[in-house]
Amino acid sequence: MTTTHCPYCALQCAMHVEPSPGGGWRTRPADFPVNRGGLCRKGWTAAGLLTSPDRITAPLMRASRDAPLLPTDWDTALDRVAGRLAALRGEYGPDAVAVFGSGGLTNEKAYLLGKFARLALRTSRIDYNGRFCMSSAAAASSRAFGADRGLPFPVTDLAGARTVLLAGANPAETMPPLMGHLAAPALVVVDPRRTATAEAALRGGGLHLAPRPGTDAALARGMLHAARELGLLDTAYIERRTRGFGAAWAQAAAWWPERAERATGVPAAHIRRAVRTLGRAPGAYVLTGRGTEQHSTGTGTAAAWIDLALALGLPGRRGSGFGCLTGQGNGQGGREHGQKADQLPGYRRIDDERDRAHVASVWGVAAADLPGPGPSAFELLDALGTEGGPRALLVFGSNPAVSAPDAGRIRSRLAAADLVVVADFVPSETAMAADVVLPVAQWAEEEGTVTNLEGRVLRRRAALPPPPEVRTDLEVIGALAARLGQPAERFPTDPDLVLEELRAASEGGTADYSGVGADRLEAGEALYWPVPRGGAPTPRPFLDRFAHPDGRARFAAAPAGTPAEAPDDRYPLTATTGRIMGHYQSGAQTRRIGELAEAEPEAFAEVHPDTARAYGLSAGDRVRVVSRRGSAAVRLRPTGACPRGTVFLPFHFPDGQSANNLTNPALDPVSRMPEFKVAAVRLEPADGP
Ligand code: SF4
Repeated sequence: MTTTHCPYCALQCAMHVEPSPGGGWRTRPADFPVNRGGLCRKGWTAAGLLTSPDRITAPLMRASRDAPLLPTDWDTALDRVAGRLAALRGEYGPDAVAVFGSGGLTNEKAYLLGKFARLALRTSRIDYNGRFCMSSAAAASSRAFGADRGLPFPVTDLAGARTVLLAGANPAETMPPLMGHLAAPALVVVDPRRTATAEAALRGGGLHLAPRPGTDAALARGMLHAARELGLLDTAYIERRTRGFGAAWAQAAAWWPERAERATGVPAAHIRRAVRTLGRAPGAYVLTGRGTEQHSTGTGTAAAWIDLALALGLPGRRGSGFGCLTGQGNGQGGREHGQKADQLPGYRRIDDERDRAHVASVWGVAAADLPGPGPSAFELLDALGTEGGPRALLVFGSNPAVSAPDAGRIRSRLAAADLVVVADFVPSETAMAADVVLPVAQWAEEEGTVTNLEGRVLRRRAALPPPPEVRTDLEVIGALAARLGQPAERFPTDPDLVLEELRAASEGGTADYSGVGADRLEAGEALYWPVPRGGAPTPRPFLDRFAHPDGRARFAAAPAGTPAEAPDDRYPLTATTGRIMGHYQSGAQTRRIGELAEAEPEAFAEVHPDTARAYGLSAGDRVRVVSRRGSAAVRLRPTGACPRGTVFLPFHFPDGQSANNLTNPALDPVSRMPEFKVAAVRLEPADGP
């Protein structure tokens, strides 16, 4: 029996992996403060991935673009990839090659992939799927607090609160064990839909505020206005621990609750009640999720919630706080170690001379040799195969053919590239569109570290070896680097050696891992970053001061923006997307788990029964949801939990069912987050004209 952590979401529940009496492998919950002996159904069934008949067990390659993917040997596949990369770089320059990473990669993989892109390929074009996940919350937190640690406190602190406000998060479906920590507090759930989490709030005497999609910032501003009106501002805290309240109030002054009601649809009385619940509680938290962040105004919207929390004096106070619920398994670590277009390891900035000099010294190169910042994930993908854009794409652990916004457009960009290489362990839709597929080890077959949503660094352990013809991502990166002329010692394939180097590269950075030694991990120490070398971990980094040089947090005062697209006569409904209990991300993994696929085998569209009636549609009808960008043919599920005029689609399904065929790639100007949560659509019978 091996004790490790779940392959899926950022809660990173601890689990035992052991042989199953009936053959194969099984998981069992392990004792860990985050999951306290619980798992969700994805965790209970995760071992199915290890023996999936769909597993890729040999490299695959096409003889030409139209030829089928056929098994080949590693040398042939790697020689082909390295040869084509060298040729394309020779013809078009280093930026002809782009790299796309993942918040599912371990810290070591994320680190080595960033180093590979910048040293072996010398490309500035590297970004990852976390850009689509919570980049706007990360940008807002960095600006407000000087550092972005999803939850700057242990999850277990939540249980002691009197009130928790959840904005755009549905943990009852997405990370059920978290609900165990939310049983005692009164919940205020902000979500256009009456989700399972909203139901839990109502059952517990809490509140469900249902703003129209894309109006959260106006709601947060209205709540800040109400807080002042009700005398609930923490003026001593604002004076002592923050800067910029005046500008934030200048924004909020225009959002008296009745006006916020008109903009959002949330009754002014509920706005005031929610603020009273939060502002008078001796312990209160504001937590955001993707619903509030995945907008073309995402950074401003996340900042509006931070401003509310600051005005109430919550962040950096024991027993209270602000945090973002990270989504992907290593979403936190994935954005700290250099696979982001604008970052170097340790959450260092790629455009900061001192940060560049530090990382360059660890890598043994001149800072001037490091490329500068590159385009964001969507911009990188959207330029594939275009004039001046990248000609080749290397994808590690991601499935942008399904998960990117305006996914049909991105699929055509993948087809236009000269070379697409995918390292994955299942035949995702992106892998099946690639020229070369490199089969890699998965979660319980290799060692490494991940950082969960609390900023706690965890050891993932190998329970079994990978299949014989499967390699680790680190080995793939090392083999390609060697073929591109890099010295072997520069790209170690032993995860412990990579961690050692990562520690040095992060030392003194915002996300300082220099004290994350293998011995401390083995001992089970709770290593919340920053962990300076030889120093103590930091479970609550903002208790005394925030991470800005003056120790104070910043109000953002961003205007309450509106979605890039509004309903009109041709597209009169608003589509929004999200997760469901049984699936994860693009579904490439969970759609291959029998029990999960049987429970939710296909995509669907939730609408209010009145909306269904207005279209003459009934439960179970196949409908086509159509936006300006594409369509998705799905089964209709009328439910009173979905507001009138809104269509909800889960984003875990591919091809003609893909919710991301509809989504709008309008980008947030700060974080470059696409607008996943609002798209104007119409409904048509699927088999109609
Ligand atoms: Fe895995 Fe997340 Fe479910 Fe826990 S809540 S078992 S980490 S998917």
